[in-house]
Amino acid sequence: GMAMTEKQGGSDLRANATRAEPEGEMWRLTGHKWFCSAPMSDGFLTLAQTGGGLTCFLVPRWLEDGRNAIRLMRLKDKLGNRANASAEIEYHGALAHRLGPEGRGVRTIIEMVHHTRLDTAVAPAGLMRAALVEVLAWVEGRRAFQRRLIDQPLMRAVLADLVLEWESALALAMRAAEAFDGTSEDDRAFARIAVALAKFLNNKRCPVAIVEAMECLGGMGYVEETPMPMLYREAPLNGIWEGSGNVICLDILRTLSQVPRAGAALAAELDAAKGADRRYDAALAAHRGRWPGLPEEAEARWFAESLAGLLAASVLIRAGNAAVADGYVATRLAPGGRGHVPGAVGGLDTGALIARIR
Ligand SMILES: Cc1cc2nc3c(=O)[nH]c(=O)nc-3n(C[C@H](O)[C@H](O)[C@H](O)COP(=O)(O)OP(=O)(O)OC[C@H]3O[C@@H](n4cnc5c(N)ncnc54)[C@H](O)[C@@H]3O)c2cc1C
Repeated sequence: GMAMTEKQGGSDLRANATRAEPEGEMWRLTGHKWFCSAPMSDGFLTLAQTGGGLTCFLVPRWLEDGRNAIRLMRLKDKLGNRANASAEIEYHGALAHRLGPEGRGVRTIIEMVHHTRLDTAVAPAGLMRAALVEVLAWVEGRRAFQRRLIDQPLMRAVLADLVLEWESALALAMRAAEAFDGTSEDDRAFARIAVALAKFLNNKRCPVAIVEAMECLGGMGYVEETPMPMLYREAPLNGIWEGSGNVICLDILRTLSQVPRAGAALAAELDAAKGADRRYDAALAAHRGRWPGLPEEAEARWFAESLAGLLAASVLIRAGNAAVADGYVATRLAPGGRGHVPGAVGGLDTGALIARIR
């Protein structure tokens, strides 16, 4: 498990108040952690203050002579995500191993956070896909007004639009994962920015898509006998933990200002799709014209949304499925290509898009 978040803040980890005192080769930790998921884990990566600053520790749950001094105070009563227990815990002189140098706690623990952040970027694509599979089964079987739902033009528009949300989320997440697995400096730099962009955009889109998918089942979508309520409750979480939306957007600005290689790799990735679709080229030029440098902090969400949308388009164009790439660019990048609510689209190749769910 990971125990970073304290009552006074999960985003601002440097405000952590848990203390660590040296004891021989080991350390003793005293303090509380406001969120600690999977509290049955055998070890917890945690942060605590030493004389040298915020430092990363590994706290084993069991010692040779019994349980370590970690108290489970209570379990959180959460909206969803119930299969994963999340606890409030306290360290009462818990024995711990130091990991990494003193004062470099965030930098040390961030190596694990990079992995879990990737999970949170990929998971919304899975949630959307799970919802779409339910929807497809429903609309193929259900009839209204003498026709199956899947044959109703307006339902097809909604489904096609939802497919574009899912396909783009998946493309963005898989491209980030590919770079994450790469070994070059460029891969690492690109992965850092791509994971953040995917985490932000995919999680902003996922809850909206799940609500719409729920509505496709009509009243049954609101009933616990279908998986839709569970998907609905799960949908917001990946946007909150491992860096909430604003924090991720500020991290994107920080990466672009501090890691020139990340900005260069991202620019190359966006340029790689140029020349295939004039609407994409125009949207990329408009983005660069709007923000020749980094935006003001207050515009970080707008900037991140635009950049992530372009990156998703770049991946889809190069992936080569014409219905998906064309539909995405037409409705997400071209001016006036779409209304603001799901399904407010026209001119999509609904047959090809709906077939992607199968
Ligand atoms: C189900 C669940 C399980 C969890 N499990 C764990 C776990 O195992 N280990 C762990 O350590 N934590 C865990 N967390 C905690 C989670 O990581 C934090 O809740 C999250 O990082 C946000 O921290 P916070 O709740 O303190 O909110 P805050 O840090 O108070 O943030 C509140 C809001 O302010 C925004 N914000 C923060 N800074 C800025 C800024 N500079 N500018 C603009 N907006 C800003 C944030 O984006 C957020 O929207 C879990 C949370 C949940 C819901």
